[in-house]
Amino acid sequence: MAASSVLKQLVKKHGTPLFIIDHAVIRRNYAIFKKYLPRVQAYYAVKALPDPEVVKTLFDAGASFDVASMPELSIVYEYIRDMPAKQRQDWIWDKIIYAHPIKTNETLQELDQYKPLVTFDNREEIQKIRKYAPRAGLALRLKVANTGAMVELSSKFGAAPGEAVDLILEAHNAGLVVEGLSFHVGSQTTNFDNYVQAINLAANIYKEAKDRGYDKMNLLDIGGGFPAPYDPTVKPFRKLARKINAELERLFPPEIQILAEPGRFMVATAATSVSKIIGKAVLDGKLCYYVDDGVYHTFSGILFDHCQYHFSAFKTGPKQICTVFGPTCDALDCISMSEELPSDLKLGDYLYSKNIGAYSIASSTRFNGFPPAKIVHINQ
Ligand SMILES: *Cc1c(COP(=O)(O)O)cnc(C)c1O
Repeated sequence: MAASSVLKQLVKKHGTPLFIIDHAVIRRNYAIFKKYLPRVQAYYAVKALPDPEVVKTLFDAGASFDVASMPELSIVYEYIRDMPAKQRQDWIWDKIIYAHPIKTNETLQELDQYKPLVTFDNREEIQKIRKYAPRAGLALRLKVANTGAMVELSSKFGAAPGEAVDLILEAHNAGLVVEGLSFHVGSQTTNFDNYVQAINLAANIYKEAKDRGYDKMNLLDIGGGFPAPYDPTVKPFRKLARKINAELERLFPPEIQILAEPGRFMVATAATSVSKIIGKAVLDGKLCYYVDDGVYHTFSGILFDHCQYHFSAFKTGPKQICTVFGPTCDALDCISMSEELPSDLKLGDYLYSKNIGAYSIASSTRFNGFPPAKIVHINQ
């Protein structure tokens, strides 16, 4: 990540609050993913950081994309708009998955022309797809264990294993093509056995489908969840990759195409936020700093992503445990109650937070009239 001298220069030029994206880190994360999971095509989950330049960097690196709304699709579409129609359609078929199990009729109608790959997990959706996007390819989203993930994702979506093959056959009987299976083990999964279990479950469902006469599946989508190295307790990616590769090799023959939808892993470590101290007080004996970015803004992940961010100061000096508040009038706008920071920081000094690329500015609001942080790209 950018050295503190670079951060300071950028702050001088652009002011705060600032959200700095280092594209070299995104390229490196993508390369690491490909290196350790060579059989797996990475569909970047755009929602983690839906920034057009981030999408461009991953596009140029050869990534595919996981989108879940038409606005997300249109970020990717920008880069293929000028292709001849046929080529563009093939590109979308090869490189985009619309990975939201619930789609509106209007969205399906729009999607149909591209013959995309879409996920589903229930009967009603089969009828919608049959009616509005009959040319789509389908992937059945399975409910799998999310044990030990920072963000649980299986309570909202996913077909129970016991109903999976019935749904596959029902879609087939409706004239649709089920291309394969997908799942999500939960975001920031540090329990690597979730992947092992989910891949085994998928293999069983492949087999049951075949036994019951459906043998058209040719892909497996192992979803997102790959953990970012927020702290040293997160085991290295290569260890997870080794487990995944072993299971894939054992259970899925080489002609089965393997996809993944990494969001956080690609972007978490690529961004740093810098905020300015705009107030300082002592409340009940505890030192509090007020900064110009907060929980309604770049630090939204504290609420939505269950992620705790930490601050560093450019200045050094004797430290104490402080509270850091965001700029809005809501007491909920408390970024941290236990940050070890120099106690003599002044108004106008800066704090920065690293590894804040995923699920942060993506959910920034304009609450209280404060706009989201300015985004600056380092792209060398
Ligand atoms: C959010 C999401 C992802 C990305 O998950 P990460 O944990 O950020 O890798 C991938 N697929 C689906 C369907 C999602 O909802």
